[in-house]
Amino acid sequence: MSAPPYLISRDNNEVLDRFSVARALREIASLMQVEGANPFKVRAYERGARALEGMPEDLGTLVREGRLTSVPGIGSALASTIAELFQTGRSPQLDKLRERLPPGVVELSQVLSTAKVGALHRALGISSLADLETAARAGRIRDVKGFGAKTEQKILADIEALRTRGTEILLHEATREGDALLAHLRASPAVARAEIAGALRRRRETIDRLVAVSAVEKGMAEDALDHAARYPAAVTVLERDATRIVMRLPDGLNAEVHVPPAARFATTWHWLTGTEGHLAKLKVVAEARGLEMDEDGLTRGGRRVSVKEEADIYRELELPFIEPELREDEGEVEAAVTGTLPTDLLRVEDVQGLVHCHTHYSDGKNSVEEMARGADALGMKYMTITDHSPTAFYANGLPLDRLHRQWDDIAKAQEKVKVRLLRGTESDILADGSLDYPDEVLGQLDVIVASVHNRHKMDADQMTRRIVAAMRRPQFKIWGHALGRYVLTRPPFAVHMEKILDAVAESRAAIEINGDPHRLDMEPRWVRMARTRGIPFVISTDAHSVNALRNVRWGVDMARRGWLTKAEVLNTRGVEEFRQAVRP
Ligand SMILES: [Zn+2]
Ligand SMILES: [Zn+2]
Repeated sequence: MSAPPYLISRDNNEVLDRFSVARALREIASLMQVEGANPFKVRAYERGARALEGMPEDLGTLVREGRLTSVPGIGSALASTIAELFQTGRSPQLDKLRERLPPGVVELSQVLSTAKVGALHRALGISSLADLETAARAGRIRDVKGFGAKTEQKILADIEALRTRGTEILLHEATREGDALLAHLRASPAVARAEIAGALRRRRETIDRLVAVSAVEKGMAEDALDHAARYPAAVTVLERDATRIVMRLPDGLNAEVHVPPAARFATTWHWLTGTEGHLAKLKVVAEARGLEMDEDGLTRGGRRVSVKEEADIYRELELPFIEPELREDEGEVEAAVTGTLPTDLLRVEDVQGLVHCHTHYSDGKNSVEEMARGADALGMKYMTITDHSPTAFYANGLPLDRLHRQWDDIAKAQEKVKVRLLRGTESDILADGSLDYPDEVLGQLDVIVASVHNRHKMDADQMTRRIVAAMRRPQFKIWGHALGRYVLTRPPFAVHMEKILDAVAESRAAIEINGDPHRLDMEPRWVRMARTRGIPFVISTDAHSVNALRNVRWGVDMARRGWLTKAEVLNTRGVEEFRQAVRP
């Protein structure tokens, strides 16, 4: 009997390595999905595959010691499938799925229904996207019963669309996908160094294409490309030539892997990080300095300038290093030339306090003490407990009696943790711009986050008046999730931003950069506009659970894209200085 195609490794006498097992799990998931299985079951296999790709421990050890279920994401049923695949290279479940479904159905179902995949397999023996494209180009699809010239054209257009367009996903999801891809690329002995480039490296809010640079030792490009092509998550290889491969990942993301020689790593990484606009401006600077710049790096009088690290490129151009998050052609090259570009951008480790945290007093999942212990575990110095105010009844906002009970609870938790707990609220900004608790209550808090949670559809004039009124209130407040957007699902509400920023600058207020990966409010262009007015910022978590306390990292990404430095962010300061700065 011939070996199944997913049997690719026999290292250490073990049949499959963890990437191959992950690939088999993903194939099970994909085939089940094609068959219309329960989405929860499908997701369990995908989660298991991701757990295997990302785990630091040796799979063989876990299987031998019966500890697979200690890996988060792997339950007992999945553990036995994994052990079976690892030890025998087979899974009866996968074999049965493959028997029931036409070959190549997973990649073909990206452009065809399962029934059509079966029909084309029976009529023309088509079992891959490449087969399908060849047949369509040769005009052989139109003669199959149930198909026609129109369908044939549509198939070609859909294949082309697959190649050029990925599905946009959120930054935190793309980061997870990028980490998994890097882990795979780095596992190849042919690869000297692998990093993410493109929009993900620039930390854009949404990503539709992963770009990775996987630099290889001399003569190893083919090996590296073969290894990349075995990426367990890849549904299809869309394109491949001598220097790169493009693959389709299950959630619709395209992944592009380049394999330059190790000596060209830095220049390729820089070029593929982009943006085109940023690179075009650098070329102009290069010319002014007597240099030429292209995708292979810099030359002077036809002789190549040595570039070992990206920083060498900027040094040759007599510019300060421009961080990837700034390379958007939004004035960063001009600012670098004139010496006005901020160079000490905020870093995750600068943040000392977690701002804007919810507990189960409102709509959070965890208790005050659990959240506080979570902050302790992250080494934080302080944390603001800011549950919702009464108007946010749908989020279980706190009337005064429950607010007082929460204060008692904060005092009790404080005795058990190191992190300093600060009392706060996320107060609704009411329709007339007033805040939701009476002034004497607000005065007893350490911090007020003021946010809009209802009546998003006000017109720009009304909404501007509402927020300006809120910002002008005499208490210091932090403007929470500024424009109420959800990335990809709800647009920011309409306002006259300059008017609001003028009011914030004249008032006792700071602006929050919301780290919830679905919000990431506000956009970098507004952050830049605000910082020119000297407005202070905080990086908030908007955490509704202990896990979400780590949202700080997405907030820092956005802050860097808005050119913010440590000095401009209030929660990089020590607890007393922070308290003084935000005291209502
Ligand atoms: Zn809120
Ligand atoms: Zn909130």
